Amino acid sequence: MTASNKTILKVLLLGDSGVGKTSIMKRYVKNKFTNQYKASIGTDFLTKQITVDEVSVDLQIWDTAGQERFFSLSPYYCRGADCCILVYDTNNPRTFESLESWREKFFIQTSLQDPEKIPFAVIGNKIDMGEPLVSRKTVHEWCQARGNIPFFFASAKENHNVTEAFTSVVQNAPKEKTIYNYFGQNPIILEEDEDEEEEKKKGGLE
Ligand code: GDP
Ligand code: MG
Repeated sequence: MTASNKTILKVLLLGDSGVGKTSIMKRYVKNKFTNQYKASIGTDFLTKQITVDEVSVDLQIWDTAGQERFFSLSPYYCRGADCCILVYDTNNPRTFESLESWREKFFIQTSLQDPEKIPFAVIGNKIDMGEPLVSRKTVHEWCQARGNIPFFFASAKENHNVTEAFTSVVQNAPKEKTIYNYFGQNPIILEEDEDEEEEKKKGGLE
């Protein structure tokens, strides 16, 4: 038996510079938005505790914080990722076209895991700016061809569909009780309390 019996999920935000990844993270975690554009350097994450389908989950949301300007991803950033949200700007078709390469980079960097099992979501951000320049049909087909990835037109500015996108990946993530330390090294499997597991099964949670 351990004190900790929580699910901790590492969620990555990936996409071109300027699409709104930092804004989405700040909106979701702090419910704040700023028009300022600040491409910071380094890697950063924020945490948020949520309850999805009656399961308490600690989300560790990682923002590329500038490295995406060089179209590169460090293994440190990707290691141990449980979910991945691909973000593009609905007013900039080139950022939609980039999604494929972000997805590929993610697969390369997570080669030690089974990336096919990792839930994705696609966010078309800045929908508040008007009619999207990439049609819903085009995005829908792209998502369908890649295992039916859930897709959201969203706005970090107006707080539209941001929560829904995070909820979607969490719902689709395997709820193993693993925790990844700050350096994204080997997972520490938390011991399970057998009685509690039995209770859960009876309660129909799993
Ligand atoms: P990142 O480089 O992907 O992290 O993008 P940022 O979050 O830094 O956002 C880039 C710019 O787009 C900033 O000026 C934001 O204020 C702006 N922005 C982000 N999300 C939205 C949105 O939903 N609507 C609008 N209109 N602007 C946004
Ligand atoms: Mg950013």
